[in-house]
Amino acid sequence: MPPVLIGSHCSIAGGLHLAIEEATRLGLDCVQVFTKNQRRWASTPLHRDEIKAWTQAITAVGWDRSRVVSHNSYLVNLATPDACARARSIALQRDETERCEALGIAACVIHPGAHLGAQRKPREPNRLGEPPSTDELDGLRRIAASLDELHRQLKGFRTITLLETTVGSGTNLGYDFGHLRMIRELVRAPERVGFCIDTCHIVAAGHDCSTPSRAKAVLERFDAECGLDQVHAVHVNDSVGACGSRVDRHEHIGHGACGASCFRAVLKHPKLRGRPMILETAKEAGPADEPWDIVNARELRRLAGVRAKR
Ligand SMILES: [Zn+2]
Ligand SMILES: [Zn+2]
Repeated sequence: MPPVLIGSHCSIAGGLHLAIEEATRLGLDCVQVFTKNQRRWASTPLHRDEIKAWTQAITAVGWDRSRVVSHNSYLVNLATPDACARARSIALQRDETERCEALGIAACVIHPGAHLGAQRKPREPNRLGEPPSTDELDGLRRIAASLDELHRQLKGFRTITLLETTVGSGTNLGYDFGHLRMIRELVRAPERVGFCIDTCHIVAAGHDCSTPSRAKAVLERFDAECGLDQVHAVHVNDSVGACGSRVDRHEHIGHGACGASCFRAVLKHPKLRGRPMILETAKEAGPADEPWDIVNARELRRLAGVRAKR
């Protein structure tokens, strides 16, 4: 069986390759990066030397390309009805996909997008497993059309796009597994699209993982709708907000609303073994001045039943 791969989102401050060095220093098996400033529309093109240093760092640790994922900017909204904003989003997604291709990064995670139409009341819960509203359906169609455009512009690229599960705040799509399925069904090249499950997001969206049988049922639903074999990265975050709260705030493992059964189900699922399990939790010094990434990774390995590295 493939190994359980525990990693974290690491900083590229000072150089992209430093994220790889940071991850290995923390005893991690995989890593997620922003390949550029995620708050800006513009980026400076990758320099030859940056790609070289990155490739050398990857070769030095002996990782294959599936162990690194990129997360694109939160500015991207492929679901927007504003044609101008959508064109900018596609351009930014294209830029990030080109960077990933140049760096040999297998997958780029994005949030599906917000349709910006009729909004539910902030406290109204997500209706899970129900057909999407008209505005939601229009948004899902725009995401698929945007991905088609991206694929048309970038023929033959190996880097795929991973649509992440969301909490469903505002008009954000992707809180229901059916949304993700529909987008992938609508695109002309579904093999270029996969998924990223975020444990914080699925719980805050209202998928109840509070007992082993409930957590198992949630993953079974995902498998039936989308296929767990299409999940190429997992975000392992605990959730500050309660189940169904639609609050997207990450908590350290074991300190939030997800519960051990949620993490165990994800970490031990045979179809998710070998996929990068990425922490996106706060970095400040943890208990006994140990970095939180080390503390959280140790807890995840304990829950997964694998030997701790440190
Ligand atoms: Zn995430
Ligand atoms: Zn989040």
